[in-house]
Amino acid sequence: MAETNSKASAGQVRCPKCFSLDVRYSKRGMWDSLLDFLFHMEVFRCRSCRKRFHLYIPDEGEGGE
Ligand SMILES: [Zn+2]
Repeated sequence: MAETNSKASAGQVRCPKCFSLDVRYSKRGMWDSLLDFLFHMEVFRCRSCRKRFHLYIPDEGEGGE
């Protein structure tokens, strides 16, 4: 079993606006923390078009796709 520090590899996240893979985790505010707590949604920001978006990241990274 490989050790990972982050629960999701941000390199596989694609921007919904420009479809760039140059996406990073964004700072979370109170509302974002709540979304993460309730729905496992992380905040990302696209470095290409600067769009900020939420994405559902399941805790268990099993299964392909
Ligand atoms: Zn983008």
